[in-house]
Amino acid sequence: MVTHTREVPQGARTYIHCEDLFKIHKTQELEVVALRGLDLKVERGEMMAIVGASGSGKSTLLNILAGLDTPSAGKIFVGDRDLLTTTEEELVRYRRSEVGFVWQQTGRNLIPYLTAQQNVEVPMILEGDTRAQAKRRAEHLLEIVGLIDKRRHRPEQLSGGEQQRVAIAVALANDPPLLLADEPTGELDSATADEVFSVFRDLNERTGVTVVIVTHDRAITRRVDRVVAMRDGRTSSEIVRHVSFARGEGEVVEEFAVVDRSGRLQIPREMVEELGIGDRARLSLGEDHVEVRPERPREREAPRWRRR
Ligand code: ADP
Ligand code: MG
Repeated sequence: MVTHTREVPQGARTYIHCEDLFKIHKTQELEVVALRGLDLKVERGEMMAIVGASGSGKSTLLNILAGLDTPSAGKIFVGDRDLLTTTEEELVRYRRSEVGFVWQQTGRNLIPYLTAQQNVEVPMILEGDTRAQAKRRAEHLLEIVGLIDKRRHRPEQLSGGEQQRVAIAVALANDPPLLLADEPTGELDSATADEVFSVFRDLNERTGVTVVIVTHDRAITRRVDRVVAMRDGRTSSEIVRHVSFARGEGEVVEEFAVVDRSGRLQIPREMVEELGIGDRARLSLGEDHVEVRPERPREREAPRWRRR
């Protein structure tokens, strides 16, 4: 039997903590490694985005965080809950009370024959709230997402963006501390998408709900504190946006490579190709930096940044 030592993640503000996380999807014919040693920390109350090419493992990660799928190995904590060892029974409770989820397909988020308000009430009534309580909270949530006037409309009488705003209200019905969204604006035009992102931002600021959004839309960078890029089942780089008062620079956007606990980092593909780095690279330590060079210096042609 494998015994599991229970480790509580360090740092009281860390809410999601993934370390060396693996997920292998097994089908009858083959095994696909969708997450291969993923590291990620998200602070309580943070609003962050995950970007990455199709197939990089974003949905797999989000489904695990939502308790809809189970990881294969590694560590994953949400709050003090260990999602690697959680029983199916606990996962059901976790899905109901801890997470709200918004899907890309608007049709998957809402029940077509119910009004916007009824859609928001359903999860509360299932949790045992009275009709009056559910009605009051549904109205409050629809007010926040800007759709109180359309509370009697059915999904087909709402635009795609409006449907996604209702879906956000549904996801928050039972006041979960974590809100997850998988490409919530994938079917929307960019202006509408930005409106939906701003609803997420507004809710995050008002209620302190932690928000993790998977998206293809680079415009998200303006709406979140941090964008983490995934590549081949791991986090590869991070864009952090912050305001620098000290240097009077106003808003600063910085991009970092993620370094895991073993010191591994991914060299961006463009740099690997530009320098012709193969299976091995030479590292040398400078006073305050590390240089990475191809095994053999390239002949004739100097790297582009040296060309005049
Ligand atoms: P993304 O959301 O970034 O496009 P996914 O997490 O959906 O990536 O997929 C990551 C990899 O895992 C892909 O190669 C995909 O084909 C595979 N995969 C995802 N879900 C399953 C599944 N249920 N069964 C088998 N393979 C899967
Ligand atoms: Mg996906």
